[in-house]
Amino acid sequence: MAATFEIEIATPERLLVKEQVTEAQIPCGGASGEIGVLPGHAPLLSELGIGQLSYVINGERRKLAVAGGVLEVLPEHVRVLAMVAEMPADIDLARAQAAEKRAMERLASVQQNIDSARALNALKRAQARLAVSQK
Ligand code: ATP
Repeated sequence: MAATFEIEIATPERLLVKEQVTEAQIPCGGASGEIGVLPGHAPLLSELGIGQLSYVINGERRKLAVAGGVLEVLPEHVRVLAMVAEMPADIDLARAQAAEKRAMERLASVQQNIDSARALNALKRAQARLAVSQK
């Protein structure tokens, strides 16, 4: 079996990553949690979740924040088409901190007109950005 597989990570606007890697950890949608991918993984198609996506290239782990989209896994190829994907250098830390604070305040609010699912997703996006921008 091959020791690596190709991972492609794109948004509708741009291709961010196209590399041969040895491993990837990818957040899935719904209650599916995170999937670990090694070369030769069984084929699958899944919704992409909100969180930190990481992959290992030449022994070095690299991270991106992703939020929603589609994930296709084939034995030697993984395609991630994300609605939002950011490399650490793309992330505005202060903006993510402010978004996290805002979402937490919304979730803690007793007002009836809060869309808590929306606030929870905003919180997850902010926390993914904060996790990815930490060294
Ligand atoms: P905010 O409340 O700060 O707008 P958000 O989670 O609602 O955050 P998104 O809807 O996920 O934002 O993204 C809208 C656009 O803004 C996307 O292009 C995304 O890449 C960009 N973006 C959002 N937050 C950040 C950030 N902290 N750093 C860099 N780009 C960001």
